Amino acid sequence: MIWPTDEEAKEQLIRVGRLLYEEGLNTGTDGNFSCRVDSGAALWTTCSGSAKGFLTEDDLVKTDLEGNVTAGEGKPSSELKVHLCVYRHNALAQAVVHAHTVAATALASSGVGLTEPLLPPVTLQLGRVHVAPYALTGTQAVADSILPYVADNNAVLLANHGAVTWGKDLWQAFTRMETLERCAQIDLQVRALGTPQYLTAEQERELHEYSVRLGNFAGRAES
Ligand code: 13P
Ligand code: ZN
Repeated sequence: MIWPTDEEAKEQLIRVGRLLYEEGLNTGTDGNFSCRVDSGAALWTTCSGSAKGFLTEDDLVKTDLEGNVTAGEGKPSSELKVHLCVYRHNALAQAVVHAHTVAATALASSGVGLTEPLLPPVTLQLGRVHVAPYALTGTQAVADSILPYVADNNAVLLANHGAVTWGKDLWQAFTRMETLERCAQIDLQVRALGTPQYLTAEQERELHEYSVRLGNFAGRAES
């Protein structure tokens, strides 16, 4: 495992915020991102209320795995508990991206996840994308709501709120957010056409085996 330095982590958080903004995946002060450093013992995260497309180093803080600030000034993201939950319960997760992307949030606000075998990128990279029950933003209840879906998957939808993805580094967590949003857009179109052609159980199993060979999923982690 190659861990980013503090400087690399901060630079990546700023770039990911910019890219999400430029791709129209996140706007305003929505969303938050984090990235582990120091062999996993600490993380850098965005400050609460910062404009995520225009982050500077002053908008980032370092915390321990309990969320205590150890470097930088400002308040960590209000959803840091969600990020900590992912780090505690998914052995492969070293970075987390939360955003309010349009199609994924539309599905999340309709109680519709990407849980049927329709699109190979979902099965291969994200797993089953469930909708975690609604919980008040910024509370421990949001972290509790995602817990059942964290160990075996790489993404989850937050009801009436947005999406969360994670990965082995910030780029993987970011590209998984791109993939999730693209697949959510396709899912909406398929639903509009009204004749979804789901993969067979055998086709899904084949994809799942491939994803395991690629090492895309952590499986159930010790907690
Ligand atoms: P923060 O600015 O506190 O990270 O909150 C943004 C958000 O998306 C809350 O869910
Ligand atoms: Zn949010």
